Order: sequence, then C-alpha cells, then structure tokens
Amino acid sequence: MKIIYSPSVYVVGRQTLAEDGLSEFLSDHGVTWSSDSEVPAEVLTETAGRICYLSFAAPRPGGNAAYLGHIKEVGHGSVLEHSVWNIIVTGVSRSLTHELVRHRVGVSPSQLSQRYVDESVAEYVCPPDLREEIEAAKVRLKEDWGEKECYEFEFNETLDWPNLTDKERAGLWWLRSMSRSHQDYVYLAHYLTEKANKKNAESKLTKTESRKFARQAARSVLPNATETKVFLTINGRAARHLLSLRGSRHADPEIRILATAIFDALRLESPNLFGDFVKEPLPDGTFELKTPYEKC
Ligand SMILES: Cc1cc2nc3c(=O)[nH]c(=O)nc-3n(C[C@H](O)[C@H](O)[C@H](O)COP(=O)(O)OP(=O)(O)OC[C@H]3O[C@@H](n4cnc5c(N)ncnc54)[C@H](O)[C@@H]3O)c2cc1C
Repeated sequence: MKIIYSPSVYVVGRQTLAEDGLSEFLSDHGVTWSSDSEVPAEVLTETAGRICYLSFAAPRPGGNAAYLGHIKEVGHGSVLEHSVWNIIVTGVSRSLTHELVRHRVGVSPSQLSQRYVDESVAEYVCPPDLREEIEAAKVRLKEDWGEKECYEFEFNETLDWPNLTDKERAGLWWLRSMSRSHQDYVYLAHYLTEKANKKNAESKLTKTESRKFARQAARSVLPNATETKVFLTINGRAARHLLSLRGSRHADPEIRILATAIFDALRLESPNLFGDFVKEPLPDGTFELKTPYEKC
C-alpha cells in the first residue's frame, strides 16, 4: 500500500497546423498572412478569430500575443475553444476526479475503471492538509517497526502506543483507515471471485464478467482517497475555466494543486493562451491562480 503526495500531469497530445490547407484558404481569398506564433493552438485560435471579421489583410501590431490578449479582454471565449490538448493525470484521488468531472463543457474524461481493474494494488492519495500527520506517523512506524509496510501492522495495537503525539496519532488513524479498507477490498474481491466461479458453473460467465462481478461490488469499500488516473481532452476555454475555479483559494487543496500543475504544463504549451494567469502563494504553501480575464 503506497501513499501518493502529489499529482502528475502528462501532456500527451497537442494540435498540429495543416499549413497547406491554411495557405490554400488564404490564397483563395487573395490575402497573405502568417502568424508570428509557432504554437499551432495559438495560430489556429488566431485564425478562427480572424475569420470572424476577415481581418487577415491588415493585422494590428503586437502579433499573436496581442491578438489573443484582446480576445480574452473582450471575453470572446468561444474563439479559444479551437485550441485542444490531451492530458493524462495520475496520482489523484477519486474524490478529486468526482469534482473534476463536474466540468461538463469542453472537458472529456476517460477514467480508470474500478469495475475492470484490480484495486488490490491500489495506492492512496494523502490529503494535503494531513500530509504532516501522515509523514510523522510513517516516521514513527519506521522507528518502532523498522522497514515493514504499514498494511502489515495491527493498527489497534499501534493506536495504543505510549507517547504518541497528536500528529502521529492522526496520521496513524488515516493510515489505519486506508489499510483496513484495502484489506477489506482484497478479502471481498477474493470472496466474490469464488462466488463468481460458483455462479459460473450455472450461468457460464466469461472471465471478464466474473472479474467485473467481483470488483464492482468489492470496490464499494474503497475510500475516496483511492488513487485514480484520468485521460482528459480539454479545450483552451474549458481549461481556463477549470484553472479559475479549481485554482481558487476556495477549492479543495488537492484539486488546487492539480490546477496549478495543469497550468504549469499549459503555460509551457501556450504562453499566449495561459500566460495571463499568475500563481499567488497561499499561507498553506499552495498557490492560487489568478487572471484579470476570469470570465473568458
Ligand atoms: C470551490 C467550489 C466548491 C464547489 N462546491 C460544490 C458543492 O458543494 N456541491 C456541488 O454539487 N458542486 C460544487 N462545486 C461544483 C460547481 O457547482 C460546478 O459544478 C463545477 O465547478 C463546474 O463548473 P461549471 O458548471 O461552471 O462548469 P461546466 O460544467 O464546464 O460549464 C461551463 C459553463 O457552461 C455553462 N453551462 C454548462 N452547463 C449549462 C447548462 N446546463 N445550462 C446553462 N449553462 C450551462 C455555464 O456558463 C458554465 O459556467 C463546487 C465548485 C467549486 C469551484
């Protein structure tokens, strides 16, 4: 049973520009134009915006950065929907993805299935506000028990230890809860697999159906902290909306940390679409994301 402390964000897909198609369009309309950006998502959003007023012939100074800055300033957010990324997020909890999938527009998730995938190898995500406690408990476990993993402990016993600090006790309490749920899942998955095998004799379940039968019921005891992975396809406008809402100080710290990590990745992908966000430090050591163009 492993504890995860921070999410990982992998950008696995980005747009390419079909330069031949764009040149053909410009030539058919008797204009020559090229963007000063080398980022396809930025060129495509600028092209989409320029289509609205056919403003390719005499662009204002400032290039792509100024153009997209103006789009954000006047709130023409739909133009930003023409930029798209594919991102894989790992090391996040099921409670985080429950919040993430509330973003219904411009965000398409494909998430690890607990019905098909065996969670007996699951890892658990430490809530940022319990990190100190969990780290203190792990140090204490190591000091008193050596190199054993925490699922090997009799946790009732550990909670009776003398001289536990409040922090250590709280951390142990959390670890105990994860460990118990984990063991309950393993036991129930095993029990339900046996049950599926008996059922199989009567109704000829396929192997996949048997596994699904066992795991879909056993997963009911897994905690919100269970680690999950999600593939997101997200457009620039939806990403900005997500960064504003989930990068806010009012968001849960775990999703705020993820929003910051997504921002770090997308700012590298497209400085002109995301560079207006700034990271402002919060007292808990995390960052809040702020932009003057929140509504875009
Ligand atoms: C700090 C915080 C606390 C929260 N607490 C709770 C909570 O306690 N309980 C809870 O249930 N949720 C909670 N949420 C989730 C929140 O209510 C939203 O569901 C979530 O943030 C997604 O936002 P959204 O609907 O704007 O995004 P999207 O679903 O991506 O929608 C984007 C935009 O499209 C438009 N839109 C989308 N769907 C429609 C529609 N059907 N009709 C008209 N316009 C539409 C809206 O303008 C919307 O802002 C919380 C969110 C935050 C950030």
